[in-house]
Amino acid sequence: MSTIIKDVAQLGYAQVQQNLVPQCLQFFQRHNDPEIVAVIFDDGRLLASLIAWQQHFSELQELIFAVRKDCQIQHCLTGSAEMIREILADADGQQRSMEAHEIDANHGDSLAKQTLIDIVTEALELDATDIHLRLAGKDARIAYRIDGLLCFQGVRSRIFVTEVVAAALNTQSDDCFDVFDERQITAASITLNLPAPYGQVRIRSQKSPCRDGFTVTLRLQRSFQLKLPSLEELGFAPPHIRLLRDLMQQSIGLILISGPTGHGKTTTLAAMNMLVPSTRKVISLEDPIEIIQPTIEQKFVANTAEGEAFSTMLKVVLREDPDLVEVSEIRDLQTAKSAVSAALTGHLVASTIHANDAIGIIPRLLDIGLSARQLSQPGLIAGLIAQRLLPKLCCRCRQQSVSTEFGTLWEKHVDGCEHCNYRGVVGRVVVSEIILPSIDSGNFIREQDFAGWRKQLQARGWLSLAAAAEVLVKQGIVALSDARKNIPGMRLQGRLFTEVAEDV
Ligand SMILES: [Zn+2]
Repeated sequence: MSTIIKDVAQLGYAQVQQNLVPQCLQFFQRHNDPEIVAVIFDDGRLLASLIAWQQHFSELQELIFAVRKDCQIQHCLTGSAEMIREILADADGQQRSMEAHEIDANHGDSLAKQTLIDIVTEALELDATDIHLRLAGKDARIAYRIDGLLCFQGVRSRIFVTEVVAAALNTQSDDCFDVFDERQITAASITLNLPAPYGQVRIRSQKSPCRDGFTVTLRLQRSFQLKLPSLEELGFAPPHIRLLRDLMQQSIGLILISGPTGHGKTTTLAAMNMLVPSTRKVISLEDPIEIIQPTIEQKFVANTAEGEAFSTMLKVVLREDPDLVEVSEIRDLQTAKSAVSAALTGHLVASTIHANDAIGIIPRLLDIGLSARQLSQPGLIAGLIAQRLLPKLCCRCRQQSVSTEFGTLWEKHVDGCEHCNYRGVVGRVVVSEIILPSIDSGNFIREQDFAGWRKQLQARGWLSLAAAAEVLVKQGIVALSDARKNIPGMRLQGRLFTEVAEDV
């Protein structure tokens, strides 16, 4: 009956018939089904989804009849619903941008919501962790972060993608109550119901203005329904898993997990929570709640830059008799002080913090405003953890490289293969270092002698980030180049295994 269009390029330079966009939108909205959609081009072609042709043929005939004054339909085409939604949405956005249209989160709400679902589904299919939208000029540039790398996906109409974001924030968000304004910084959590196999997905969105528009970063959290990964599954070495298990059994002290953003600190803390026996009560204060953990009490606390909300709430929950208290991140003096005083008054407190490595957590806390004297108190620090996620070499296409320096190692294939989506790497593996303070650690902290502390740890056979990464490189799991890019200390010297005291 009609030609099948598989790709937008097949449509040539045809433009959507702008006058008929409203009729096509009505057709889509009337059915409220993402699979039933049609669009009309100005060269007289009508493109509709297969289901629309099969189930609503007479309605499409009526549409052809109704639009005959503007456009004589010459050809009927069939295409994927997703492609047609994209064409229709962009035509709609383009039209309204010409009308100097005000952003209206309710306009074409179902199409905007469906577009968000389309974008998120595509990102999940590609195993992306984040979606980056940059809205500038007339365009919205879309990129996905896959295995730690930003991958450009395409350009859409700015006005339409703005509405997608506005609709998401206004109707899907559980903690954003501001009116949409692209000049404002807004953070929100969004819950979306996606078709199988993804189900319910949580998205953490952050929007902020930039020079010529604004950017939106959407962090995808699939763990809502999927099983939380265990420490083994994340790639922790067995000796480290034993240390973490012991840590979570303690009754007092401060456990801090450090690493850069996007390197899985929160996921590690959630996996550590699974090691806590059900006889212990865990209360977690989070802004935002990133991973739903059914076995612990999670409380959303909208924290302020000064940290009053976290520190006030921390005092409140200490009266609720917890065994373990968690704060999603320590980034200000108030929160840091409250965490320290909770840890010193007989509670186990766990949190994440931005620092380069495990020892680096202490200078970071000093920067925030705690004193070396406070931090060196016996029993305060229970454990310091640092971690990185490193891209895993694709086992189908990795290549051996022989060098005089390192002997035989595995490296990435430049072009990759089908299995790894032509990137040479698939998924990521955790590398970690853990410090359980000993009696003399307090002296090193008080003297702020971090180089000396590191030397002492190494003399005792401590497995540092660099040493843990070296093991993965030698096993052919991680490329040396990726390890060097991500691990402090490894990139500073030519040797494979390096420990440089000066980099502390
Ligand atoms: Zn491959």
